[in-house]
Amino acid sequence: MKQKNMKAGVEIGFWGVRGSIPSHSFKNLRYGGHTACVSLHYKGSWFICDAGTGIRELGEKLARIKEPISLFLSHLHWDHVFGLPFFKPLYQKKRKIILAGPSIGRRSFKALLSKIMHPPYFPIGPVAWNSNVEWKSMESGSQKLGKVRISTRPVKHSDKTLGFEFTFPGGVRVIYVADQELSLKDIGFARWIKGADVLIHDAQYDKKEYAKHKGWGHSSFETLLEVAMKAGVKKLVLSHHDPNATDALLEKRLSWCIRRARLCKNPIKIFIGKEGTTLVV
Ligand SMILES: [Zn+2]
Ligand SMILES: [Zn+2]
Repeated sequence: MKQKNMKAGVEIGFWGVRGSIPSHSFKNLRYGGHTACVSLHYKGSWFICDAGTGIRELGEKLARIKEPISLFLSHLHWDHVFGLPFFKPLYQKKRKIILAGPSIGRRSFKALLSKIMHPPYFPIGPVAWNSNVEWKSMESGSQKLGKVRISTRPVKHSDKTLGFEFTFPGGVRVIYVADQELSLKDIGFARWIKGADVLIHDAQYDKKEYAKHKGWGHSSFETLLEVAMKAGVKKLVLSHHDPNATDALLEKRLSWCIRRARLCKNPIKIFIGKEGTTLVV
């Protein structure tokens, strides 16, 4: 997935696209086994979604680049925070990092995250970070960081989870929804993603698998495609692949989606989230 566009402004990097557990295997080398981490690079600023195991490699890169980092965690399930203690910039003196995620009730995001990054669960936690971290507890709402607007919205998952919408100058909209059990009846969600330039969304199951996993908090790729097509999404990235989804299976799903979109005469472009690739919009 490498697209070049002369008006390019936002570079979307895929560092981890797997759901639930890191799952490298010879059967999925092409798409990768690291868990959720996506970066948006715009005019010298880094906006990162989730800190799954994929964030470690991104951290190696960012440790050498002195550009501002804002890191947003969709929720606190292990596959979305595993990589955080291995994110090098957190240990760099004077490095400014915004670290944002959901609060739950009266418990702040900082309190929730500090609890799991603490002995005996993990030997080091935020007290070992030398960087200058600005903690933010997020609810649904909207805020501006520089010229980029970030809007958050609760999505349907097994614990409190936020979806993120990034609106860049010129109107480019990128929406990231890590984990969600999507329904065709969710009018509010369809309205939110209407006309998005890029939607990166959980597509863990197919319809048959979904029927066996109702209530687990994840979507079938068929339902996701229908919702995205109806909402006029321009580019759809299937992500949060099941640990057992092989390269061959993911490519079969992609072919199905392309055929379906063609049949519906819908101009949507569909991609399978692939570790180590960049999409430019
Ligand atoms: Zn997940
Ligand atoms: Zn989750």
